[in-house]
Amino acid sequence: AEEAAQLRKSYGGNVTGEDLPLPIGSFEDLVTRFKFDKRLLSNLIDSHFTEPTPIQCEGIPMALQGRDILASAPTGSGKTLSFVLPLLQQAINSRKTEGLKGLIISPTKELANQIYLECVKLSNKIFLDKKRPLAIALLSKSLSAKLKNKIISEKKYDIIISTPLRLIDVVKQEALDLSTVKQLVFDEADKLFDQTFVEQADSILASCRDPQLRKTMVSATMPSGLEEIAQSIMMDPVRIIIGRKEA
Ligand code: ADP
Ligand code: MG
Repeated sequence: AEEAAQLRKSYGGNVTGEDLPLPIGSFEDLVTRFKFDKRLLSNLIDSHFTEPTPIQCEGIPMALQGRDILASAPTGSGKTLSFVLPLLQQAINSRKTEGLKGLIISPTKELANQIYLECVKLSNKIFLDKKRPLAIALLSKSLSAKLKNKIISEKKYDIIISTPLRLIDVVKQEALDLSTVKQLVFDEADKLFDQTFVEQADSILASCRDPQLRKTMVSATMPSGLEEIAQSIMMDPVRIIIGRKEA
């Protein structure tokens, strides 16, 4: 606990919540503490991710412990990896059940594509059983058309990354079932949550019907409106703030 406090201090971390897990000091810690998949660890090394960044030290153990998270850390601090790794691990853990496990909502297509590429890199050569690779998709225009026409099974993917409107569209047309989703992430939530998005988020949340659904909201800034929304859609989220709190 002493060490954790020092680690937190070293990166100016402010973490609030009850029964908090300790931050990790290295990615290897995840293997010993959380039975983290060794193939994921080796993909991290292959991607030259050798040391976790502060948001990763704090965010990954919280997520693996099943906590709802409201996190803010500066641009370029590695927030993507902090929410992608727990989703990949979850997909591996629940490989015996069918359907979508993880959903990432991004405000723009460009950002969605970047997240997608990071997911693909980290899931390299990971098979959930002999024939089935861990499957990740960007909900593009063409994929959404294929889902609507049933050319591709909605159960094919473990993790999907999408902008809000495209996701809501396929869900409304019953082309994608969100009832099996176990983890939901809103990236760049400060850009997502204007008034129209509050309604969009409600619509997405209504379709994610797993009572154990874990939610994460990630952002570079933490405007007070965002905290209010977070409190309204999450159960006692852990708050992780790295660096300066901005208004
Ligand atoms: P943010 O979302 O906080 O703005 P990103 O997740 O886009 O930041 O990461 C910024 C850059 O840092 C990316 O190029 C990413 O590959 C790299 N990165 C992330 N985590 C690590 C790490 N642990 N070690 C080295 N580089 C990392
Ligand atoms: Mg980001």
